[in-house]
Amino acid sequence: MITRSDILMQGKRRLQELAISDTPYLDALVLMSHSLNMRKEKLLASLEQPIWEVDAIAYGKLITLRERGLPVAYIMKRKEFYGLEFYVDKRVLIPRPDTEVLVEAAIEACRSRETCKVLDLCTGSGCVGISIKHTLPDTTVTLSDISEDALAVASLNARNLLNCDLETVKSDLLDAIEGTFDIIVTNPPYLTNEECRDKTLKARSEPDLALRSGEDGFDHIRRIINTAYKTLEKKGILLIEGGYDQLEKTRELMIGKGYTNITILKDLAGHNRVVRGQRN
Ligand code: GLN
Repeated sequence: MITRSDILMQGKRRLQELAISDTPYLDALVLMSHSLNMRKEKLLASLEQPIWEVDAIAYGKLITLRERGLPVAYIMKRKEFYGLEFYVDKRVLIPRPDTEVLVEAAIEACRSRETCKVLDLCTGSGCVGISIKHTLPDTTVTLSDISEDALAVASLNARNLLNCDLETVKSDLLDAIEGTFDIIVTNPPYLTNEECRDKTLKARSEPDLALRSGEDGFDHIRRIINTAYKTLEKKGILLIEGGYDQLEKTRELMIGKGYTNITILKDLAGHNRVVRGQRN
């Protein structure tokens, strides 16, 4: 008799051999619970049960996708972020837990105002703007991205998770954005060309457009700092996510442009992750 456990261990070994994942057991387990349409906990409690051949084959196909480098989130077409379950596919960057600090900071900035108009720039899956709107339903949130594909995913997530449509704008950073905002929040591309050439990063199969930002990784951050100033209301707040080693320079760029009250915030792993600045 072949059990779920036998097939699970086979899956784990396949992922281990190719060293494709840092968490082969977890990946194998999550994919099995996905393919059997069963919660992880329930699967764990029933590992010694036999598995149907047809289920073992379907599971093997998911392991093959993972072996080829496809992230678990793309295989399952979903990723949890800020307590919500977002639909994701290859059109968008997979939301990272690191980005939750950006959401926290935006929510805090909104709470200190009576009404709040927020722009989520480079929204991708929509995870940042949608999480803000979900927590503070009275805020007005606009989602923008240069990629129409990404905006389609963000709109789908807004409808599924908020039961309403959020305004979406296709725009190359702030170029096509009209009006002013109290808060501009952004997780722009911020990797260097060199980092994007890295094979392990390529294997993640996420859109280059969402990650690459020129020779020094600052192409987008620089443009955002320069153009957001006039798109912010007086005393408006700009919140930018960046790499932990980019934030001191981001702070200087903001000072150069006239932003004040600049602070650097850390993510849950204790790394510098977000810069917050204010328009005069
Ligand atoms: N933090 C992401 C990574 O390490 C980069 C995200 C981005 O460029 N916005 O892949």
